[in-house]
Amino acid sequence: MSSQPRGNVIIDVEECKGCGLCVESCPPECLELAPELNHYGVHAAQYTGEGCTGCGACFYCCPEPGAITVERLIPPAKAAVPPVPEQEVAHAATL
Ligand code: SF4
Ligand code: SF4
Repeated sequence: MSSQPRGNVIIDVEECKGCGLCVESCPPECLELAPELNHYGVHAAQYTGEGCTGCGACFYCCPEPGAITVERLIPPAKAAVPPVPEQEVAHAATL
């Protein structure tokens, strides 16, 4: 059974310094260090191509501005809080 991807991550290999923090931070373990070297002579991070939830953990831990872009393809579900009936609101306000 295939499900619609929830997120996507784009890594600019020319900005990445290969520190690996994003790889360690990714809960579904969908990032890895590329076997080839980038122009800094380091193994840049890359997306394995599946599993990204769009959580943003990699984006927030990356020390290189612009190296990681996260796309959230499915917005998080809104909390299912039922509306409070007007009568109850009025009652609560008189207490
Ligand atoms: S957004 Fe979350 S799931 Fe997607 S690659 Fe980054 S850490 Fe992993
Ligand atoms: S955290 Fe940023 S600099 Fe470090 S490997 Fe990941 S993308 Fe590259």
